[in-house]
Amino acid sequence: MKTYFADLHVHIGQAEGQAVKITASRDLQLKTLLYRDAPRKGLDIVGMVDAACIPVEREITELVRQGDLQELAAGGFLARNGVLLIAAAEVESSEGVHSLIYMPSLDSIHRYQKYIRSRVKNLSLSTQKASVRIRELINLSLILDGIYCPAHAFTPHKGVYGCCTASLEDLLGPDFACLKVLELGLSSDSDMAGLLSECRHFSFLSNSDAHSPANLGREYNLLRMREKNFAELKLCLENREGRKIIANYGMDPVMGKYHRSYCPSCDLIIELPAPVQACPGCASTSLINGVYDRIMEIRSYDQPHHPLFRPPYNYRVPLRQLPGVGAKKAQVLLQAFGNEIEFLERAEIDKIARVGGSDLARIIQRMRRGRLPIKPGGGGRYGKVAPLKEWPD
Ligand SMILES: [Zn+2]
Ligand SMILES: [Zn+2]
Repeated sequence: MKTYFADLHVHIGQAEGQAVKITASRDLQLKTLLYRDAPRKGLDIVGMVDAACIPVEREITELVRQGDLQELAAGGFLARNGVLLIAAAEVESSEGVHSLIYMPSLDSIHRYQKYIRSRVKNLSLSTQKASVRIRELINLSLILDGIYCPAHAFTPHKGVYGCCTASLEDLLGPDFACLKVLELGLSSDSDMAGLLSECRHFSFLSNSDAHSPANLGREYNLLRMREKNFAELKLCLENREGRKIIANYGMDPVMGKYHRSYCPSCDLIIELPAPVQACPGCASTSLINGVYDRIMEIRSYDQPHHPLFRPPYNYRVPLRQLPGVGAKKAQVLLQAFGNEIEFLERAEIDKIARVGGSDLARIIQRMRRGRLPIKPGGGGRYGKVAPLKEWPD
């Protein structure tokens, strides 16, 4: 078996010169994602969730024709530099929930398009609202030999637990058994999801939901598989035949922009014990529910319960968001260590001190051992790592 670093939720800004996701950076394009951004980050596998958008699908087809991508017999698309592209579609169901469907081949993408075309307004754009229910999407992914995964499951914005239901089992009935994997999203981690009894059945993914090259790989997963292809990925996410997710790497939930509930009229992140029902400033109950507050509202346990297969969740902050790391320093570090994940996970602390200074070495050491001191986020703003001089000893 081998191990691979994977980020399985990445958007595309433009394809064939036209915008695919309006809020995404135009610099995030398929070919540069595979040949520039993924290697710079240190990712072996990239899941690109706009693959069924017409211009993106045509670019994949063109890259296959030119030999820049090889469509594998076992599914997935291998770039010449060894990066595996996993094609996927993010779609908003009639419940107002975002779902991911990972697909093995061009043929399956075409069948997805055929099904969804009459159910969305514009098949050229990302994450379209479709007149399809989650249960139908699960069924569709089975027909396509794909993998269904609820996206950013706990966020108030379009996450299934965040805005739709307290129980997927209640929502889905017998189809619940088809669900094997769940994306945690930036504002939650394994321990938070582990407060819900039904989450014991799922593998957890920590993905970036990147809309720009800078955010690629701000969360990632370490996967154990025999080879890089779609069939192996499916076994891995379903936790079968020795394939599994062996570690999650993600942002500290307190850094997430929806960690605690927020009152828009007072511009206040509410820090009272969760779950908060009303704003302590104006008594308003129209709050933006924080992920933490929501989980505390619907939890089954006081302490997280994890199945034996649950891997560790390691808190990570991307290189450029660490105190004292500007563009120039990041460049020097990437040059010295090869790529960002190599630097964050494997570089020797002594060498980091020599190349990047003793403060940075101290930060990386602390990060690998546990959690960095954080100034929390909320109300749509991300948290930050506290400056070194404010750290407790
Ligand atoms: Zn989404
Ligand atoms: Zn997304």
